[in-house]
Amino acid sequence: MRNAENCWEEVADTVLAGAAIDRETARAVLACADRDLGKLLAATRRVREAHFGRRVKLCMLRNAQSGICPEDCSYCSQSKISRAEIPVYRMQSVDELVAGAYRAVESGARRYCMVCSMRGPQERDVDHLAEACQRIRRQFPDLELCLSIGILSAADAQRLKNAGAGWINHNLNTSRRFYPEICSTHTYDDRLQTIANVQAAGLKTCAGGIIGMGETDEDIIDLAYETRRLELDSIPLNFLHPIDGTPLEKRRELTPEKCLKVACLLRLLNPAAEIRAAGGRELNLGARQAELFNAVNSIFVNGYLTTPGLDHQRTRELIEGAGFEVET
Ligand code: SF4
Repeated sequence: MRNAENCWEEVADTVLAGAAIDRETARAVLACADRDLGKLLAATRRVREAHFGRRVKLCMLRNAQSGICPEDCSYCSQSKISRAEIPVYRMQSVDELVAGAYRAVESGARRYCMVCSMRGPQERDVDHLAEACQRIRRQFPDLELCLSIGILSAADAQRLKNAGAGWINHNLNTSRRFYPEICSTHTYDDRLQTIANVQAAGLKTCAGGIIGMGETDEDIIDLAYETRRLELDSIPLNFLHPIDGTPLEKRRELTPEKCLKVACLLRLLNPAAEIRAAGGRELNLGARQAELFNAVNSIFVNGYLTTPGLDHQRTRELIEGAGFEVET
């Protein structure tokens, strides 16, 4: 970037013209002085509005199987090494999963995501989830239906697509370099393979990351460029919410400003992708949450898997109070 922090409008012009920002500019985004953050946010907002106007899509999660994962992701309360006090239960019934879809629709959510703590689904799990997808699809033909079920084969992805699923979430989480620091039971390449399988099945991809786990800015930049390279449809941005009983329970390094700069970087590198404010926004951004809408166009409501969050009514107030509108 030619002139440090004051060139953000020029950067937005570059992005709107269809060019990618270079790595030096990406570094400048994360290094933007806090006093210049308003300018960065305003420029990023032009990119956001060019593709999504002022719309914000609401999404709702359902923890369909909780607390019994054999993996060791260090940020996760549901991993085999977590001692967090959380609900533990096997896969919910099809009726319960369908009831969750009703609640999502009642709350104004456009997307409903059923999440299972597991390495990946067994055949019986795929049968069960396929049945749930079929029933939900019949009831709510327009509801965007997403599954987050770990490592997924191409064949199982295809079966779930045939049953009515539209999206699969499988986060990259962090950079390739930092991945072994947060998980030892599967690899970054395992993650990429699942994303490839999802794309091969014609499903839409939802894959983002978590910041605040001890990664460097270069790791965040690697992650951001990877989201662009993969041409993801949806990119959730999580901000670490350290949970007691997990290896990252004491890590608290994010500031609201840092969270906002990362959101801008993702938007500038992925101008047309859905970018979603996800877990930890309440804890890490507090009163500055609404500024995320300058970059993101989607948000979770009614909490996360094992941590609470703003309910749909208060999230709606947040959106409208910031001059944006809930997508219907
Ligand atoms: S695979 Fe998912 S549920 Fe399992 S430990 Fe990792 S993040 Fe948690």
